[in-house]
Amino acid sequence: MALSVLILGGTTEGRELALRCAADRRFRVLLSFAGRTQHIADPGVPHRIGGFGGVEGLLVHLERERHHALVDATHPFAAQMSRHAARAAELVHLPLLRLEGAAWRELPGDRWRVVPGLAEAPAALGGPPRRVFLSIGRLEVGQFASAPQHDYTIRAIDPFVPPLERARVICARGPFELAAELALLERERIEVLVSKNSGTPSTYAKIEAARKLGLPVVMVERPRLPPVETAPDVASALGWLTELHEASSALSSSTLPPSTLRGV
Ligand code: NAP
Repeated sequence: MALSVLILGGTTEGRELALRCAADRRFRVLLSFAGRTQHIADPGVPHRIGGFGGVEGLLVHLERERHHALVDATHPFAAQMSRHAARAAELVHLPLLRLEGAAWRELPGDRWRVVPGLAEAPAALGGPPRRVFLSIGRLEVGQFASAPQHDYTIRAIDPFVPPLERARVICARGPFELAAELALLERERIEVLVSKNSGTPSTYAKIEAARKLGLPVVMVERPRLPPVETAPDVASALGWLTELHEASSALSSSTLPPSTLRGV
């Protein structure tokens, strides 16, 4: 019997895992997107778009689709969805794995100013006007209205009108390469970057570029999430799913009812 897996996406790694599962007959996969971006590139696997409607909506979905496992492959800063996933999995005893690499660590040559949340980032830029590179997504840019003296270059997936006077938007979707990041920072004459510590390899090049150019980075720490089992990469997540499939196959060949598989 195929193991039915719901993958909460929003990251390159989530897509990769979904593709690997879809190519494997042991798994039946559904990849879920929040639907924040205007054009979702076809992931090439069965997918759905839009919120579930809180923990209750997620529970309804899990029950209706009879998923056997849940993988939270959302961005480390998508805290609400991760909390909902943890709560729902706990309530129905569904195996849950978070696919999340380690946070980036400061290396020699880095000039980080670490802040606990995005709300503290504008003040960390300091008083004198500077040219700032914001790569924090589109939704939270308004936080920087409290520091209007700076010139902001904002990178986002979709075009939008930033709620900041001195700002321009560059539209691009990762992954990003080091050479291009170096060129961008130099072309825009950037003096300081603001980044979330996502830890994702596909967006690390800007941190490397800042190091090479000796630029400071205001680094926003990850939000605290409920402790759940975590895999650092796609291969480990696939290993976890394989083990789960083996355990569920052993159970389904016995006389136990299918609902028992939910709690493997
Ligand atoms: P969030 O604050 O944690 O979630 C807000 C709500 O959006 C959730 O309660 C849920 O709605 C819905 N949602 C989030 N992820 C979903 C998913 N994969 N499938 C279905 N519904 C989902 O999330 P966010 O920070 O707005 O991020 C939205 C999406 O963008 C996430 O999937 C995340 O992986 C991706 N992303 C976020 C960031 C970031 O910095 N936050 C960066 C890159 C990518 P309901 O309560 O109605 O279920």
